[in-house]
Amino acid sequence: MQTQLADFIRDTPAGREAEAILRKCVHCGFCTATCPTYQLLGDELDGPRGRIYLIKQMVEGETASAKTRLHLDRCLTCRACETTCPSGVQYGRLLDIGRELAVKKAPRSGLDALTRSVLKHFLPRPWLFKPTLKLGQWARPLLPAALRAKVPPPRAAGAWPAPTRARRMLVLAGCVQPALQPDINAAAARVLDRAGISLLTAAKAGCCGALPFHLDDIEAAKKDARRNIDAWWPLLEDGVEAIVMTASGCGVQVRDYAHLLQDDRRYALKAARVALATRDIGETVAAEGERLLPLLDAAAAAQPRTRLAFHAPCTLQHGQKIRGVVEALLTAAGFELTPVADAHLCCGSAGTYSVLQPQIAMRLRDNKLAALSAGRPQRIASANIGCITHLQSGTALPVRHWIELLDERLSQ
Ligand code: SF4
Ligand code: SF4
Repeated sequence: MQTQLADFIRDTPAGREAEAILRKCVHCGFCTATCPTYQLLGDELDGPRGRIYLIKQMVEGETASAKTRLHLDRCLTCRACETTCPSGVQYGRLLDIGRELAVKKAPRSGLDALTRSVLKHFLPRPWLFKPTLKLGQWARPLLPAALRAKVPPPRAAGAWPAPTRARRMLVLAGCVQPALQPDINAAAARVLDRAGISLLTAAKAGCCGALPFHLDDIEAAKKDARRNIDAWWPLLEDGVEAIVMTASGCGVQVRDYAHLLQDDRRYALKAARVALATRDIGETVAAEGERLLPLLDAAAAAQPRTRLAFHAPCTLQHGQKIRGVVEALLTAAGFELTPVADAHLCCGSAGTYSVLQPQIAMRLRDNKLAALSAGRPQRIASANIGCITHLQSGTALPVRHWIELLDERLSQ
């Protein structure tokens, strides 16, 4: 697609990147067919091709309105369109550029600006989020059903193995996950301990930066990235093999540190190394197959098969392009995976999307739950805290992180 960049962006890294991405798009529209918001809303401007056109207009100097911003806000950043695109258009990167421009050209105001500000300051701060969640959990029986569904009951983490193994890896604690489901990282530590790996956390690491990044605060996201790099660096220098992500949404963000900090002279090289050392827990467990597969085989032989529906988060299948890995591990552990139609579609969680675009998010959740339930599973599993919490708010079936299920199998 031929683009004439306007003066304000022509000689900038964002302008050059946008032009290179736009040049690849041949406007064929294949991506539209797999876009969840286009499927629901039926408006070309709520599909990838339409949004690409809106961004092209902005970089060519046309003004943007609140309506332009709304069409970009309604995008889930699920990147299903990237998976479908035959021309390799990096839609996600283009959207980041487009959103930044849309907010500059048509600044947010009123309730929209206030909600985003509250989310940005509240969620990534455990000292604020954790006590509020505890209060909600305490008052849970008294809450109205709609609110109760959003407050999960408290969970115990279980034992974290002593860090005695010769091989060591780091795990990102994250921001909301340790409060909502502390058992996820503890389960990952127990599974990896069986493979001869100690999983460690770095006390000063925190939110991966995805929350502020998607709430228009790129500088705060960069600050989070630098803080995490500083926390992890001494351990990487000391021989830690990898930085493991148990939330696929965080995995996408940390793998992107190299791009986020590419113009930062002090951090660019470190960010590139951190991005290279980042692994999803699925890849990590699969790579230890020699030690773990015999244990999983034995567990599968000793325990009854459980029917399980797996929801692959967009950040796993489209963002990190990891497909089939978790499913293979669950099958090896003796779970019978039920068929799930339209597995490429987003569940509607998408970070804070379910708060900011609740109507679309709920419709997507209900569609996803119908697809997941069609094979009559006994449980649902996923790989990202946001998807797990969002799906659990709409079903009585237990929704768990798959690593907890693997740990459970290996512990019996
Ligand atoms: S993004 Fe890809 S699939 Fe979509 S219109 Fe452009 S070239 Fe076609
Ligand atoms: S990222 Fe997802 S919601 Fe956004 S345009 Fe692509 S397919 Fe549609």
